[in-house]
Amino acid sequence: MSKPPLLHLENLKKYFRVKEGWGKVRYIHAVESAPLDIEWGETLGLVGESGCGKTTLGRTILRLYQPSSGKIFFKGEDITQVNMLPYRRKMQIIFQDPSSSLNPRMTVGEIVGEALDIHKLASSRGERKERIEALLERVGLNSEQANRYPHEFSGGQQQRIGIARALAVEPEFIVCDEPVSALDVSIQSQIVNMLEDMQAELGLTYLFIAHDISVVRHISRRIAVMYLGCVVELAESYELYKNPLHPYTRSLLQAVPIPDPDLTRARKREILAGEIPSPMDSPPGCRFNTLCPQAKQQCAQAAPELREAAPGHRVACHLFSE
Ligand code: SF4
Repeated sequence: MSKPPLLHLENLKKYFRVKEGWGKVRYIHAVESAPLDIEWGETLGLVGESGCGKTTLGRTILRLYQPSSGKIFFKGEDITQVNMLPYRRKMQIIFQDPSSSLNPRMTVGEIVGEALDIHKLASSRGERKERIEALLERVGLNSEQANRYPHEFSGGQQQRIGIARALAVEPEFIVCDEPVSALDVSIQSQIVNMLEDMQAELGLTYLFIAHDISVVRHISRRIAVMYLGCVVELAESYELYKNPLHPYTRSLLQAVPIPDPDLTRARKREILAGEIPSPMDSPPGCRFNTLCPQAKQQCAQAAPELREAAPGHRVACHLFSE
């Protein structure tokens, strides 16, 4: 029997209940369709604009949010309803904003050591200290910095502390939730390179979330594109760049700056007119139909499924469903 993927999502949905006046209740459909598998040791990039549901999807996978329906399988086991404490060790997260994700009243040593304590991973004070020092060195900090507080560090160093905290419990899978978007461009590549080195060394699997498609390109084996709660395209990173099929993916790629004014002028751009609808009030049919330059009548009537358009390349668009 073949090994199941590290992570498999089945009809996973996440809705948030919003109370309005006069007892009226509405729902934000944050995650509507994300039929994803993540293979052992790969990096799956997840891109889309702010508010498309990618962070909610990452947190729902880790059960930081309870799914509204559907199932999450980790190493073939259904973890949708189980007590997550044993799985917390194996499934970690690196947050977007390192300054707000670190407790300002705890020293760096206490922050990293807390995870060791919760999961009883050090049998003595000496071992605990050694492990904290090794983790700090692993992320490019030094052991003397264990007694300092988060505010004494730069943004890049704070993110390194967040990574050391995630690594402390020896995870197998990490949701990297926009880990570089709050950092200077010069620091971004250092953090991305460090994540890649750690993956090669420790065999980690990543879900790497970003709003900038050019950031995920370098680290991801495959990329999933999300729009208004739905994964609309999924392909190998190189293939997605070379041959984007979904009109939304094409518009994302066209927005990536090219450092050459002549090429920028020469490139064709599809202008999307209008605003992205609210996830509380999504249009019927394909959710992209109100902005799509190629929308046809059928698009407002039926939602397209994520189907294989070429080997390993899946797209949710009626243009490719015949
Ligand atoms: Fe555009 Fe229709 Fe394809 Fe949606 S299904 S992306 S509206 S062509």
